[in-house]
Order: sequence, then structure tokens, then C-alpha cells
Amino acid sequence: MLDYVDLESELSEEERMVRDTAREFVEEKVKPDIGQHWIDGTFPMDLISEMGEMGFYAPNLDGYGLPNLSETAYGLLMQELEAADSGLRSMASVQGALVMYPIHAFGSEAQKDEWLPALGTGEAVGCFGLTEPEHGSNASAMATHAERDADGYVLNGAKTWITNSPISDVAIVWARDRSVDDDPVRGFLVETEWDGVSTNKIDEKLSLRASITGEIGLNDVRVPEENVLPGVEGMKGPLSCLTQARYGIAWGAVGAAMDCFQTALDYATDRDQFGKPIGGFQIQQEKLAEMATQITNAQLLAHRLAELKERGDLKPTQVSMAKRNNVRMAREQSRVAREMLGGNGITADYSPMRHITNLETVYTYEGTHDIHSLIIGHDLTGIPAFE
Ligand SMILES: Cc1cc2nc3c(=O)[nH]c(=O)nc-3n(C[C@H](O)[C@H](O)[C@H](O)COP(=O)(O)OP(=O)(O)OC[C@H]3O[C@@H](n4cnc5c(N)ncnc54)[C@H](O)[C@@H]3O)c2cc1C
Repeated sequence: MLDYVDLESELSEEERMVRDTAREFVEEKVKPDIGQHWIDGTFPMDLISEMGEMGFYAPNLDGYGLPNLSETAYGLLMQELEAADSGLRSMASVQGALVMYPIHAFGSEAQKDEWLPALGTGEAVGCFGLTEPEHGSNASAMATHAERDADGYVLNGAKTWITNSPISDVAIVWARDRSVDDDPVRGFLVETEWDGVSTNKIDEKLSLRASITGEIGLNDVRVPEENVLPGVEGMKGPLSCLTQARYGIAWGAVGAAMDCFQTALDYATDRDQFGKPIGGFQIQQEKLAEMATQITNAQLLAHRLAELKERGDLKPTQVSMAKRNNVRMAREQSRVAREMLGGNGITADYSPMRHITNLETVYTYEGTHDIHSLIIGHDLTGIPAFE
């Protein structure tokens, strides 16, 4: 896989081992079937517990049986998973960064003991409910709300576009707590088998097909007090989770682009036209040179982010820049790779077309490209342009 400026030499033994283990895992267990899963619109369910056994969920957290790997190792893992398919990386990102992270950071000891080991091994699956049918980019305007009663809370509302909701045991639902002044946003651990909870699947997606997406309906759902995340109030709850997940996306998108590059390079040196490999023509070489350069720039940004995160200096705005840049890069370069494969590039036999369609989701979720432009613009000018 492309490593033009020898980033390999900066990696520790442990980081190399994590990357190589993940790479072997996807080569053996994912890549042979992922194209068919993508066509069928299914997720390879047997991989959920296998990824848990491999320690792929929240490996950068500590305690509760979690490995506490470096942020670089975690990033490399996301890169390798997304080199196989964005759906696979999404599964690990949601489980780790959007479900286990908030429980780890803001949960009670009882919540951590109950959920972190089970989620870490893949015995339980979680999802993250923030987006609503009428509130996407403007998530803070959410209508889902909780009213206090004698035993806890009663939750009502609807979430949509929720990765894994139809296969989840537990959902982190973000809702406004109407029982106190200013209706602060709180995080609720909602078990999907409870009365009043529905998790309908969204069918016929044309992107991220090898990933299960659904809704969360909440109709007078009784949530006991001990299922509220005690350690956070306000939008910083969901936003801090999104910063963790966006960090993984910044690495993952690079993996998708690296896979596209490798596929295009192999094809260009193998496919003959006009008496020689197409990679022998200047136009194709320019495409490969540009692709390699753009991927290398994105790799450097991801590695720098890891350094900042490791020493506790990473700002959410820097993560926005990396998510915005690296996903746009992968979206553009996957198209170039597909184009180099000619007609064969249209089929599911090769990965670039699948990556192209997946990256449309990655470009949109976890803050759209536009929203990250506004976040960076706000940081640079001090003037918010969201409204
Ligand atoms: C497959 C998939 C999986 C997902 N998984 C999850 C999940 O697990 N959990 C979850 O909570 N959500 C999830 N999402 C939802 C995702 O985060 C939202 O789709 C995203 O935040 C955008 O919201 P929206 O779709 O409502 O678009 P909108 O917010 O309606 O945006 C529509 C367009 O308007 C633009 N726009 C919006 N506001 C502005 C503005 N102020 N200035 C300029 N342009 C603007 C946007 O950039 C976009 O181009 C998922 C989405 C998909 C497609």
C-alpha cells in the first residue's frame, strides 16, 4: 500500500503489528465477500464478534478490558478497515467512538461495567441517535425530548439515518431534558427491546450498502434515572463523540483512497492497449502521480492529528479540517481510479466504484463537507456563518 514518504519508519512495533493484523484480517475475511454484501445490501454479521475478538472496537480507550493503543494505531486500524469498505469502518467507528466513548467518558461506573466489556467484544451492538428527520446539520434544534416522572424519564421523538440501529442492543439517544430550565441535551442509554422503541431499517440505499442503517422511534419510552449519562450536559456531549469519530474518518478515508490507488496502479501495469500497458502512457502516469500526491498529503495530515491527539492538544476544528480534506480527497481520487479501469471499473469486481458510492455517505455524515467549511471559517474569522 502507498507510503511514498516512508511514514512506516515512524511507527512503533505495536503500531505496525496493529496495521498488519488489520490488513490480513480484511484480506482474508472481508475483501473476498464484501462486493457481494454491498450488492445484497447486507452487513457481514459474523464479523461483528470477530472484530470484537480482534480488539477493533475502541482500542484507544483504557480499562474494562480495552487495549489502550496509541492514537496512531487506532488511526491505522480505521485506515485498513475502510480500505476494505466504508461500511466496515462505520461499524467499528460507531461502536467505538460513538457508543463506547461516551459511556467511557460520561457514564456511571455501573453503566461502564454493564456495557463496555460487552460492546468491546462485540457481544452487544450499539448505535448513536442524534440526527432527526427534520434536524440534520442543525442537530441542536432536535425535537426528541425527555420529561421527568417519579421513576425516571419518558422519552418521545424520532431519530433517522442511524447506523446499526436495526441490529443494536442499546442506543445512545440524545434528547432535550424538558424537566429543567433551558432544556439541556442529555444522553440516554435506551435498550432497543424496551416498550415504545422501534428500529425500522432504511432500505434501498445507493451508498454504504454493506452497512445497516435505520430509524429509532421513541414512543413514551420509560428510561430509568440510572440510564442517563451523568457526566455531560448540552451539545458538547454529542459533539465530543463526533470529534472522536471524525478523527477515525480522517484516517479511514485515506484507506479507501489507498485501496483505489493500488487497484488503479495494478490495473495500469497489467492492462495493455495500443501494444503496451496503459500505465506507460503519460496521461495515466499523471493521474497516478496526482493520486499518490493527494493521498500522501492526507496521510501526513492524519499522522499529525495523531500526534496532537496523543499529547492532548487536538482541537475539534483541526479534526474538521482533516475530515473535510481527506474525505474530499478520497471522493475525488476514487473517481480517477475508476476512470483508469475503463468499463471494468463499472463492475463490482473492482473496488473503486463501491468506494465512490460509499464516500458519498462519508462526505455527508458526521458533519457535511459544507458544515466543516463553516466550522473552519468560524475558527479563522471569529464570525459564525451557520445561520
Ligand atoms: C448512511 C448514513 C449513516 C448515518 N449514520 C448516522 C448515525 O449513526 N447517527 C446519526 O445521528 N446520524 C447519522 N447519519 C446522518 C448524517 O449525520 C446526516 O445525514 C448529516 O448530518 C446531514 O444531515 P441531513 O441529511 O439532514 O442534511 P441537511 O442538514 O438537511 O443538509 C442538506 C444540505 O444542506 C447543506 N447545509 C445545511 N446547513 C447548511 C448551512 N448552514 N450552510 C450551508 N449549507 C448547509 C448541507 O451541507 C447539505 O449539503 C447518517 C447518514 C447516512 C447517509
